[in-house]
Amino acid sequence: YNGSSKASESVFKIPPIKFTKLFINGNFVDSVSGKTFEAIDPRTGEAITRVSDGDKEDIDLAVKAARQAFDHGPWPRMSGSERGRIMMKFADLIEENVEELAALDAINGGKLFSHCKAMDIPGAARNLRYYAGAADKIHGTVLKLSEGFQGYTLREPIGVVGSIIPWNFPTIMFFMKAGPALAAGCTMVVKPAEQTPLSALYYAHLAKLAGLPDGVLNVVNGFGETAGAAISSHMDIDKVTFTGSTEVGRKIMTAAAASNLKPVSLELGGKSPLLIFEDADIDTTKGKFVLQALTDKKQFQKILSYIEHGKREGATLLTGGKRLGSKGFYIEPTIFTDVKEDMTIAKEEIFGPVMSLMKFKTMEEAIKRANNTTYGLAAGVITKNLNVANMVSRSIRAGIIWLNCYTAFDVDCPYGGYKMSGFGREFGLDALNQYLQIKSIVTTIHDSPW
Ligand code: ADP
Repeated sequence: YNGSSKASESVFKIPPIKFTKLFINGNFVDSVSGKTFEAIDPRTGEAITRVSDGDKEDIDLAVKAARQAFDHGPWPRMSGSERGRIMMKFADLIEENVEELAALDAINGGKLFSHCKAMDIPGAARNLRYYAGAADKIHGTVLKLSEGFQGYTLREPIGVVGSIIPWNFPTIMFFMKAGPALAAGCTMVVKPAEQTPLSALYYAHLAKLAGLPDGVLNVVNGFGETAGAAISSHMDIDKVTFTGSTEVGRKIMTAAAASNLKPVSLELGGKSPLLIFEDADIDTTKGKFVLQALTDKKQFQKILSYIEHGKREGATLLTGGKRLGSKGFYIEPTIFTDVKEDMTIAKEEIFGPVMSLMKFKTMEEAIKRANNTTYGLAAGVITKNLNVANMVSRSIRAGIIWLNCYTAFDVDCPYGGYKMSGFGREFGLDALNQYLQIKSIVTTIHDSPW
């Protein structure tokens, strides 16, 4: 593979592709079928390499390894501080390999190398360290109960976790789930998005070097309807965590219910408004265009068709609206004005660099419109008026509100949806709790002095 290493913002070294197989029980192995699929460079549309294509049989093997590691292995049984020590080592190794990992996400995810190097990869290390630090602070409570009894609660790892993740942040998504799950003492089967299979395999390799016991973290690349569906319907997976579209989230929840009723946490689509009041400092609105390259050809075509919808339904194209260049999956940052509430571009999640501008006269009108969506992932408010900021933040039904900023994330700040944007929280200690069960233990107690 000889793809160009010249992104518009920086020049970086194309790394050799070291890992392409499935990672099961501590080893890189071929898929049972022997099938492979292409890992694509969205900057050119060309293939980088081929990776093993996992299907149901491979998920079965990975679950078996994860089950064994959970039921009989050391990981859930070791002290939290020992798990934390291994996770810290894992974080160090990620930082040592930051250039190579950032390059992998850049060539396979079509992401800016400079962003990956400065944010995504260090973010993974920070995430691991945050949860490593929490691993030895997981504890229950003591309960006095009624006369003659006392109780206490234990927080136990939930078991084998299936993690199904999308392509927009291959590294962040991987650790958003793996950080808290590993700290809790769970074991995992991760299915990366078929568009971005490469960096996850590198992380599996580093996990092993850090001392993670075999079977604790398995990575099976493959497609949604095969490998993904095998996870959501598996009888021996105890929990599924998913980030992706609302449509697929619904399928996952259905499959989870129809199999072993495993709990799911879903972080789904959004249609996140940014409310700009007239006193706004306009520079703070730039976060709306944080991702401008598309990783996937299908997504690229879908966004171009949304742009056509916008034009046809009568919105005014202020800027952008076209493919950028003739190679790869780039779309110009696009802004529509004169957008009406009932237009397709105002209602549906576009998941690309397309912004619809709508004017409002009163705060009440802005709040009403911001809530007029089936989604509730995030919203932004730009104003200097503290009262407006507070009123709007409390009135919008969304999991995160950015005040005078947009798309600001941190590992200690819970993130997740209201309404059809899903449920459950990523990041923070709230995420850790999603990988823990609470067990209450009740005993009799006689002749207690109080
Ligand atoms: P996006 O719209 O962000 O591409 P998708 O919801 O299509 O998100 O995909 C996110 C993840 O879900 C990917 O890893 C994909 O392979 C997986 N997936 C897609 N369809 C299914 C399915 N039916 N069951 C389980 N996982 C699926």
